[in-house]
Amino acid sequence: MKQRLRSERLYEEAQQHIVGGVNSPSRSFKAVGGGAPVFMERGEGAYFWDVDGNRYLDYLAAFGPIITGHAHPKVTEAIVKAAHNGTLYGTATEHEIRLAETLKAAIPSMDKVRFVNSGTEAVMTTIRVARAYTGRNKIIKFAGCYHGHADLVLVAAGSGPSTLGIPDSAGIPPSIASEIITVPFNELDSLRIALEHWGDQVAAVMVEPIVGNFGMVMPKPGFLEGLCAMARDAGALVIYDEVISAFRFHYGSAQTFSAFPDQEAIRPDLTALGKIIGGGLPIGAYGGRADLMAMIAPLGPAYQAGTMAGNPASVLAGLACLEVLREPGVYPRMEALAARLCAGLQASANKHGVPLTVNRIAGAFSTHFCGHPVTNYEEAQGSDGEQFARFFRLMLDRGIYLAPSKYEAWFLTTSHTEADIDATLAAAEESFREMSA
Ligand code: PLP
Repeated sequence: MKQRLRSERLYEEAQQHIVGGVNSPSRSFKAVGGGAPVFMERGEGAYFWDVDGNRYLDYLAAFGPIITGHAHPKVTEAIVKAAHNGTLYGTATEHEIRLAETLKAAIPSMDKVRFVNSGTEAVMTTIRVARAYTGRNKIIKFAGCYHGHADLVLVAAGSGPSTLGIPDSAGIPPSIASEIITVPFNELDSLRIALEHWGDQVAAVMVEPIVGNFGMVMPKPGFLEGLCAMARDAGALVIYDEVISAFRFHYGSAQTFSAFPDQEAIRPDLTALGKIIGGGLPIGAYGGRADLMAMIAPLGPAYQAGTMAGNPASVLAGLACLEVLREPGVYPRMEALAARLCAGLQASANKHGVPLTVNRIAGAFSTHFCGHPVTNYEEAQGSDGEQFARFFRLMLDRGIYLAPSKYEAWFLTTSHTEADIDATLAAAEESFREMSA
């Protein structure tokens, strides 16, 4: 049992000044039984250290961006260089061109790119572009996919399989929620019904093409193809939210992933990016077909701007991170480590009679405490949150840091080693044994 007295004291103090003591609700431990979250002080490679001097092996990777591990020398060098040269000019820079080119080369559906500061902004603006282009207002999204915290996407499904949305947060007018239709992921029939009903009002169908927000969930064979075909038939655009999935599974995005044989059939019109492409500094980006992107100011009538957008520090950190990811063997290595870890976790859980569903996609995976497959949000909701919370705490006390929610993924980084996997499996074996006792 690790002592975290200083974290506890800082949490008390933080709550006096920062709402809820955290600057993003997902950092709180509310979903894993509450109490003080861990206050970190320093990170290096696959590890970080808390303010009490405890070391943790990190599978959170800051909810995705830290794919090279903490303080990777190349990323650090890029950030230091940017700092020395001045962090913000409010003018164009050559670096932005280089990152845009790099992204376009990896994600060919993007003819043009625009940088913003977060995934939320990227998603929000793709919706604006889609509405400006089509002259329609409604958006179809999928239950359990998270697209950031803009009003438009903080909307939950209504009661039926494909109904107009209801606000998922206070402060969102029902009039906004009524523009969003939420349907179950991996169910083309519900999408068909929604499009039959509202098709001529739908500006875009938006989806995480590989889901990272209710665990890691692959689209069923034919789902993305069907989604794209149906959207096009209805005159709606397709928006892929690849804020998590881009550069996570391979050097490219879900839309260029080898798991999908017919990439032409799953090509989106617009793509939202974030997380990894900033190498751990704030960033977002969106891109797509040239005629759609021409809707954006200064070329077109749809407005979007940003004081910090394309700042040299984020852009140079992103370029450095992507350079590391282009090194040969990086992705196969993360995948091999994740595969061994998942096989070991499953075997250990089985041995101790703990129901566990592991969904792995390359070097990322999720662990749902349930005996059924997880292919949509409803199934993920049906996993045991209390069991997850127990496992989370047991692993934390053994120095293994998982995301504090049953819906979040485990992320491998380029810094994880075989020895780290052994240590994680040993901790998991003890944790499952304790859970079954
Ligand atoms: N889209 C997806 C798929 C995400 O997972 C997230 C954040 O987790 C976002 C959008 C929002 O990104 P940000 O937190 O950078 O605003």
